[in-house]
Amino acid sequence: MHCELCRHDGGQVLYHDAQLRIILVADDDYPAFCRLIWQGHVKEMSDLDPAQREHLFHWLIRTEQALRTVLNPDKINLASFGNMVPHLHWHVIPRFSDDRHFPQPVWGAAQRDGVPHGEPAALALALTAALHGD
Ligand SMILES: [Zn+2]
Repeated sequence: MHCELCRHDGGQVLYHDAQLRIILVADDDYPAFCRLIWQGHVKEMSDLDPAQREHLFHWLIRTEQALRTVLNPDKINLASFGNMVPHLHWHVIPRFSDDRHFPQPVWGAAQRDGVPHGEPAALALALTAALHGD
């Protein structure tokens, strides 16, 4: 089967285990854009068993907290669509009042040129440390 997310990580891996991975998406406007990707082909949240749901939410919240610790954003956006790939995944996006689309979703109409927050290499280091720390 040809599946992009099975063949490629989809970004720089910040954390992974047998069930999920957390990546840093290479996005020029949103350098701290993270994505939590379930490793297996699972379509809906309700397809996960209770232990899997707990595991996913643990790491989703941990990702949110890591972004807050590292960047102190004005808001965190959490989104799950999954219309294009057979992997359950969550977008975890730190938002700032001066970013390109604020207060619209990052997929909405641009509001201004926008200020990117963070530099990819430094973000990868800091977020990896925050995700793996206590
Ligand atoms: Zn796949």
